[in-house]
Amino acid sequence: MLYVLVLTVFILIGVIVFLLYQVHIKNHYYQYKADKMDAMEADYEEQIQKLQTTVEELNKTAFTHTVTKIGNIDYFIDRCAALFHRYPLSEFVMVGFSISNMGKINQIFGPSEGDKVMIYTADILRFSVPNNAVYAHVNSNLFGILFRDVTEDAILKSIDEITQKLANYSPTFAVTASFGIYPVNQKNSSDSLMDIMNCTLLAQKAITDPKHQNYAYFTEALNDTYNKNRQMSQEMEEALEQNKFIVYLQPMVDLHSYQIVSAEALVRWDYPGKGILSPYAFLPLFESSSLIQKLDYYMWEECCKLIRRWMDNKMTPVPIAMNISPIHLQSPAFIDKLEQLTKAYLIPKEFIILELPERGVANASREVAEIIGQLKAHGFLLCIDNFGSVHSPLNLLKDFPIERIKLDRSFLNQNCNSDEGLTILRYLIAMAKELNLTVITEGVESLDQANFLTDIGCDIAQGYFFAKPLTVRAFDQLNKSMLRTLYRPSEYYPTFEDFEKDVDILTQMMQRVG
Ligand code: C2E
Ligand code: MG
Repeated sequence: MLYVLVLTVFILIGVIVFLLYQVHIKNHYYQYKADKMDAMEADYEEQIQKLQTTVEELNKTAFTHTVTKIGNIDYFIDRCAALFHRYPLSEFVMVGFSISNMGKINQIFGPSEGDKVMIYTADILRFSVPNNAVYAHVNSNLFGILFRDVTEDAILKSIDEITQKLANYSPTFAVTASFGIYPVNQKNSSDSLMDIMNCTLLAQKAITDPKHQNYAYFTEALNDTYNKNRQMSQEMEEALEQNKFIVYLQPMVDLHSYQIVSAEALVRWDYPGKGILSPYAFLPLFESSSLIQKLDYYMWEECCKLIRRWMDNKMTPVPIAMNISPIHLQSPAFIDKLEQLTKAYLIPKEFIILELPERGVANASREVAEIIGQLKAHGFLLCIDNFGSVHSPLNLLKDFPIERIKLDRSFLNQNCNSDEGLTILRYLIAMAKELNLTVITEGVESLDQANFLTDIGCDIAQGYFFAKPLTVRAFDQLNKSMLRTLYRPSEYYPTFEDFEKDVDILTQMMQRVG
């Protein structure tokens, strides 16, 4: 009995020890698990924190301009939208400004100096913009400031402060800026921030005298012009495909023989519902975008086709003077285009004269001078167009490998009514002749002018006295009738021999003129 009792006690003790051991192990296990969980939690927290920092940094980078390290366009969109939403009754004014002489700074001092100017501008904004305004570096050369509930005076004061600080950028050159001011109409909720910024850009373009006043307000009239221009740009591509741009030719006449020796190709736009548009109606718009390149390429090709047709039809081809927009002189790519065209249509180079506008070559950089040299090396005849219209630096005449100068219509008009003016014309032409240049005078409207120009040695004239710009058909007729006077009219019937004779006559004229 005792034996059984002792055994039971032992068994009970054994069970208790076993159970205690189990509890201990479990506790140990749970402790282990809890420790592990704690460690994992800490790890997770650390990971989450790291992730949050990375996201914050990414957000910061995504909202920061890479060069100036102030808010960028995305930041501006975000902040402006938040402000418009938060203050629906506030009055907002957007000021967009660009560094006006940025192109020149990059060109003269290099892009790294340009970056420094941008960073300096951003610093000005950091310290000058009032607290209730947000600012950003919107894109390459556009900064924006959104003012909330501030008076016009305060805005103009800010503009003035920024202008002054920019002017102090360097002792050797001033940085200048143009400011466009656009009062934001919150009711017009369809306006995106880019629309708003575009309005400030339009306003900037309306600045007429930046030295006197470097800011302008956006007006509805500007908006109408902008919309009209946008519509016109859209229509242009279509018009090119439908051959709605037409080549008109204005004869250039040899002042000794009164024969047509060449013609200037002038573009016209046959615009549905409006008739034939003058280039003054659309070229300024095209020149402010890349449309001008497309238009010029089109015109050059039309001219090459025309010369080819004259040659194929055994008509007397005359050299055609084609206008080269100043934008082409920024890069030599257009020379390849001209080469391709002359090769494709088998046009001898002496039938192509390139009119380089004075505003594109005056104060020309080394790059422009190189491009002009390349054009010459390719065998094109070069003429400086509109000579005397703005700058007329005389060293253009010796610095560039040109054959011709064309005196601008305004130059003739300014100088043909006074003795002093006539003297200037006489000496300019004499000097050009000394330099072996052919002189063409544009805008000749009377016999007196033509006679005077002949007397003082001008070679060629172009103007309404001889003919206005003509359709190709009218030009061909005029050219033919002028040549006809060289034969006895009854005998005249153009044959291949006639064509050869015409070419001989033309060659003689060219020799006389050139
Ligand atoms: P521009 O090259 O100086 O061309 C001469 C302009 O003077 C032409 O105006 C011509 O019609 C006008 N003109 C000629 N003689 C007289 C005259 O006796 N009296 C008056 N009042 N005007 C005369 P247009 O055709 O309106 O062309 C204006 C300008 O547009 C051209 O000036 C040229 O710079 C540009 N342009 C014309 N066609 C083209 C083109 O195909 N490409 C480019 N890039 N520019 C072109
Ligand atoms: Mg011209």
